[in-house]
Amino acid sequence: MKTYENYIDGKWQSSRGGKLREIHDPGNGELIAKVQESNRQDVVAAIQAARKAFDSGPWRKTSALDRGKILFKIAEGIRAQARKLAELEVRNCGKPLAEAEFDIADAANCFEFYGGLATKIHGETMQVPANSLSFVVREPIGVCGQIIPWNYPLLMAAWKLAPALAAGNCCILKPSEMTPLTALELADIFRQIELPAGVANIVTGPGAGAGEELTTNTLVDKIAFTGGTVTGRKIMTGAAANIKKISLELGGKNPNVVFADADLAASIDGALFGAFANQGEVCSAGSRLLVEKSIHKQLVEGMLAKIPKIKLGHGLSPGVKMGPLISATHRDKVESYIKLGLSEGAKLLCGGKRPEPSDLSTGYFVEPTIFDNVTPNMRISREEIFGPVLTVTTFSSEEEAVKLANDTDYGLAAGIWTQNVQKAVRVAQQVRAGIVWVNTYHPTFNEMPWGGYKQSGIGRELGLYGVDEYLETKQVNINLDEAPIGWY
Ligand code: NAD
Repeated sequence: MKTYENYIDGKWQSSRGGKLREIHDPGNGELIAKVQESNRQDVVAAIQAARKAFDSGPWRKTSALDRGKILFKIAEGIRAQARKLAELEVRNCGKPLAEAEFDIADAANCFEFYGGLATKIHGETMQVPANSLSFVVREPIGVCGQIIPWNYPLLMAAWKLAPALAAGNCCILKPSEMTPLTALELADIFRQIELPAGVANIVTGPGAGAGEELTTNTLVDKIAFTGGTVTGRKIMTGAAANIKKISLELGGKNPNVVFADADLAASIDGALFGAFANQGEVCSAGSRLLVEKSIHKQLVEGMLAKIPKIKLGHGLSPGVKMGPLISATHRDKVESYIKLGLSEGAKLLCGGKRPEPSDLSTGYFVEPTIFDNVTPNMRISREEIFGPVLTVTTFSSEEEAVKLANDTDYGLAAGIWTQNVQKAVRVAQQVRAGIVWVNTYHPTFNEMPWGGYKQSGIGRELGLYGVDEYLETKQVNINLDEAPIGWY
């Protein structure tokens, strides 16, 4: 069993407080690693290393071409140990191996995407009403603190680090205290490829203390956060200390809208995949299924017929389609919502309990759960449960579907199922969400922007938009007149 250290200033370092945290496999409770339970001093050391690397280190003088090549090497490093990383991801956060393999491949692709983009970051020249050469340059923001959640550990690290490094920033990444292992393996790739010291630092530890220091420390120029909306509010407040730039990727309670003219088989699959991929621990999960009344019965029956195919088990066991939840505490939270749904009068169609097989008793499993007869005012329809719980609500018209879809404080993602292209476009235009899928659910592309309307966040990750969040914009005006200003 390995004990990991923090990766600060190009070196492995133990926490100054000497505390360790045990990391357990949520699928069977086994102790799999120990990591540093870092305190504020550790984070300060990482911030100082990043500050030094940005202000006087070689990174800002490294050409965009060379920064891009370094990101390509990181992508290669990830691919070279893809299997090991995927298995580690399964053991740390519980997801089925096939999903982890996809995440690891996508993390490598993300570094490659931004490696290619590094040389395409450019400014522009403007026509101004003066004899002046006026142009805009894009520059790195500086030192970026990056805080990520536990549901897609390596992928979230890639979404944060790749654009920031491509743009020439120096970073301190704090993974979730529960799932730090693949980010620490990524740090080892940084070491192997000799990324200059201080350019990317990985510090493990809790939100209280370590995360707060990153958010409030005035040597940090920008904070990028992915996590819950409640924490997001704290991050905004903390970042106010020195008016840090912020980008926030927060929660969701996403509508998946099925019209009567949809392909039934495809929408049954899409409803289940939208709700239950990654155990439903997905910010963009289609956790609110909105169904046109006339097909409600067929859709529900179709879903129930397929539920037995969602095999629960340890993510490394063959054929498993749903793993454990991340922790006992989180399972308690999900189970409390199931109780709440029953007390609110929703009709439990399936699941709602822990699976029976005794070999699953040491993991934090909950069966895929579907509630029917859910009304929009019920808390199970309004609050993010972040587990395998799907609510079903019916509608009678397109107008009502749009109203229900938008009846939420969140605005991350939405699904629309119909074979009528005009209707698909009409509804997509009216849905207040940053991501809309039509006749599909969950595909995520490095090339496309990711982020939310309303309380689902601020800013965008991925694509060209993602790198913008790590750039300042500067105008430069060169006077071409030989004569003085002549005002006085
Ligand atoms: P969380 O908000 O509890 O924690 C996220 C991170 O913030 C962790 O690293 C944690 O240590 C840190 N943190 C906690 N309190 C902090 C504080 N006061 N100051 C600084 N850092 C602090 O979220 P979670 O439970 O890890 O993840 C689940 C949430 O993440 C869900 O709400 C989900 O929707 C959201 N999420 C959003 C996206 C997106 O792209 N929009 C993606 C994945 C997850």
